[in-house]
Amino acid sequence: MDLSKLHILAFVPFLFCISLVHGWGIDGHLIICKIAQPRLSTKARHAVSELLPAYANNDLSQVCSWADRVKFRYHWSSPLHYIDTPDKLCTYDYKRDCKDEDGIQDRCVAGAINNYTTQLLRYGNNNDSSASQYNLTEALLFLSHFIGDIHQPLHVGFTSDRGGNTVDVRWYRRKEVLHHVWDNNIIETSEQRFYDSNIEELIDTLQHNLTTVWSNQTKAWEACSETACPDKYASEGIKAACEWAYKGVDEGSVLEDDYFLSRDPIVNLRLAQGGVRLAATLNRIFG
Ligand SMILES: [Zn+2]
Repeated sequence: MDLSKLHILAFVPFLFCISLVHGWGIDGHLIICKIAQPRLSTKARHAVSELLPAYANNDLSQVCSWADRVKFRYHWSSPLHYIDTPDKLCTYDYKRDCKDEDGIQDRCVAGAINNYTTQLLRYGNNNDSSASQYNLTEALLFLSHFIGDIHQPLHVGFTSDRGGNTVDVRWYRRKEVLHHVWDNNIIETSEQRFYDSNIEELIDTLQHNLTTVWSNQTKAWEACSETACPDKYASEGIKAACEWAYKGVDEGSVLEDDYFLSRDPIVNLRLAQGGVRLAATLNRIFG
């Protein structure tokens, strides 16, 4: 066996890991955080800018994929990016579904959103000695990422296919898994086809839609009687997974224009909702 083959083999487990650990791709998280930051209240804007690491240059979108990058270092955080629900049931129930593979309760993306929200509520409370036991910068980066992830429909997916991670499909001519199509391919194809491969133009369009076609819906998106409402987002997520992501898809399906053009509006809606709700949650926390 020559050296180049050895190199390729050494890469195989690495590639396999990557294919299983996606949230929204980098672009999806960037879009959500770009939508969220201008919607922050004055207090929330100050808190976020104080908590952001210096290298982010006061730009939340620079660090919204941080939680994916630290998954290997913080191995415990891997199950916090998604929720597995019973196959074909198309419903979500916190008590039933929010646990990791070992059955440990609260270890799912909804539990993580609750946990990091609780941590961030201690911000600015100088008398609270427990505040110092938490790293509030990491809490902000985790929360900003997980509110994004919970809006990716296949992050609240079926247990046996790991949210579409074991469903092999073709995206046009490329071999992909269904989960990756929703993390990356739909957004990338949309950028290429409609926005001259310019992500800023896609963000501008979503911002514009928020002030026009979606303007009478944003209040309902933001509505939440507690500080964070991940259960509502997860219930919508599994419904969208059944109605759009899994629908009509079998092992080996070829997904082309029919699928892309009908699902692209759902992806845009979920990105916009993710951004609006991230801002609303941070405003409730810091407001
Ligand atoms: Zn993620």
